[in-house]
Amino acid sequence: MKHIIIGGVAGGATAAARIRRADEFAEIIMLEKGKYISYANCGLPYYIGGTITEREDLFLQTPASLGKRFNMEVRVENEVISIDAETKSVKVKRKDGSVYAENYDKLLLSPGATPVKPPLEGIELEGIFTLRNVDDTDTIKEYLNSHKVESAVVVGAGFIGLEMAENLHRAGAKVSIVEMGNQLMPAVDFSVAAHLHLHLLQKGVQLFLEQSVERFEKQGNNIEVCFKSGKSVLTDMVILSIGVRPETKLAKDAGLIIGETGGIWVDEFLETSVKDIYAVGDAIEFPHPLTGKPWLNYLANPANRQGRIVADNMVFGNTVKYEGAIGTAIAKVFDMTVATTGLSAKRLKQLEILYTSSTTHSASHAGYYPNALPLTLKLTFDPATGKLYGGQCVGYDGVDKRIDQIALLIKNGGTIYDLLKIEHTYAPPFSSAKDPIAIAGYVATNIVSGVMPAVTWRHIRETDLNTTILLDVRTRGEHASGAIPNSVNIPVDELRSRMNELPKDKEIITYCAVGLRGYLALIILTANGFKNVKNLSGGYKTYALASMCLNK
Ligand code: FAD
Repeated sequence: MKHIIIGGVAGGATAAARIRRADEFAEIIMLEKGKYISYANCGLPYYIGGTITEREDLFLQTPASLGKRFNMEVRVENEVISIDAETKSVKVKRKDGSVYAENYDKLLLSPGATPVKPPLEGIELEGIFTLRNVDDTDTIKEYLNSHKVESAVVVGAGFIGLEMAENLHRAGAKVSIVEMGNQLMPAVDFSVAAHLHLHLLQKGVQLFLEQSVERFEKQGNNIEVCFKSGKSVLTDMVILSIGVRPETKLAKDAGLIIGETGGIWVDEFLETSVKDIYAVGDAIEFPHPLTGKPWLNYLANPANRQGRIVADNMVFGNTVKYEGAIGTAIAKVFDMTVATTGLSAKRLKQLEILYTSSTTHSASHAGYYPNALPLTLKLTFDPATGKLYGGQCVGYDGVDKRIDQIALLIKNGGTIYDLLKIEHTYAPPFSSAKDPIAIAGYVATNIVSGVMPAVTWRHIRETDLNTTILLDVRTRGEHASGAIPNSVNIPVDELRSRMNELPKDKEIITYCAVGLRGYLALIILTANGFKNVKNLSGGYKTYALASMCLNK
């Protein structure tokens, strides 16, 4: 059996190695248009910033080492330029321009994605870069080494954009981020991203939100990044990080079906619409397990997992099904970490799926043990059944393990009730006896059971104070140092003796710092005959931070 693999990085290299393990005698040829294979794309920003000091550390394998270990032919600087599905052959262009044909029994496409580079005036100016591969990295590194880069603009505030912002800052540049949307990290909800806004501002990063770039102009040694709004910023270099598109030209030209979101269509066995041609990684679209709708998921873990599955299907016939990815992702943003899994509130709204959410603030480990740090967890779930839709977490420590646990539950069809059953490791340096996950679960179950009707910070901003009382149950000192406008302050410890100050015929929304005292106040009022009481999810902390960022 002869297997040809197009693309030698995440999906391609994984599949090639697995094919060899599954069939010692198969012929395997890997065709890669670039100079390198099996390198760590995810590590590239950290090499640029200097955290990874040795360039060689980016390479997991060389063409020679991979070829020898797995007894395969690895041909770098060999670009596949066409596929003929009828004759089961591909045409390949060598570096010197010569072209040859290679036939196959099974073909795998793992060609990845290409950075979006819109045709804006001045986009080809020296000093404007995109980052996708080792060549891009070398070019950026060389520019940093040979120019006095005192300032840098990152256009696009997704995962790679924010990683680049941190790394250019680390490399000594004053960094500005330009983002078309009103928030950083579009994959998470605004209230979660607000933590990053504040953190980046504290680090001296300038944010240009709701600004789209119209053109780039050369101004002496600088580049002027001009926005549609008429504003502009001068800089020494620009990183464009406004997204990627699946690399589908080969597939399209070969007559393979391209799906509705623009990725290569594959079935559950990762086989394309043409028999014996398979595809994986950033180039494919696949139904989201929660929505059933196809989507593009540009992440390394799914590419690797698909590579392993597809290898088995190529060797043994279609036996292993791929279950789809829910979009579990994480980024280090300076000292903070932000992670997400499943569907955010924003996405659920777009999809018109009925949901509710909860926001909880906890400490990363027991508060009495040194260096416990704040951690915010947002859950989205079905208001009737409690089925988990998504989780988002932002903080300084332990963000990854919380989101990984939630991701595991979501992938297994879990509910908020399952959060309570998680048996987690606990000793004071690591967690609390009641882990942030459990706290989030308790709050969510109180919402679904109706014990604690909850509202969001956005709801508060739209609340009519003629019909609703906003009740701040924090201490007088806390209230004095900042409160929701027009709220009434009755500290929770005085509430039992002062509830006669509150009308029983109006809606009352309780709030405290993070939600716990507000919940206690709600219990007290409800037990005493107040019929329409709700608690602010995430408390004043969420409201104040999100409102501040929204008003900026
Ligand atoms: P790739 O790994 O991009 O490999 C595709 C290869 O195919 C390329 O080498 C390309 O040259 C080759 N190719 C394309 N067309 C042809 C052709 N016609 N002939 C021959 N060869 C061809 N994901 C995460 O989950 N976490 C992270 O932290 C993370 N960080 C990232 C940071 C950066 C800077 C980048 C660029 C990506 C990051 N990703 C991250 C995304 C992750 O790297 C990708 O999802 C993953 O590499 C996709 O694998 P792939 O095999 O589909 O494509």
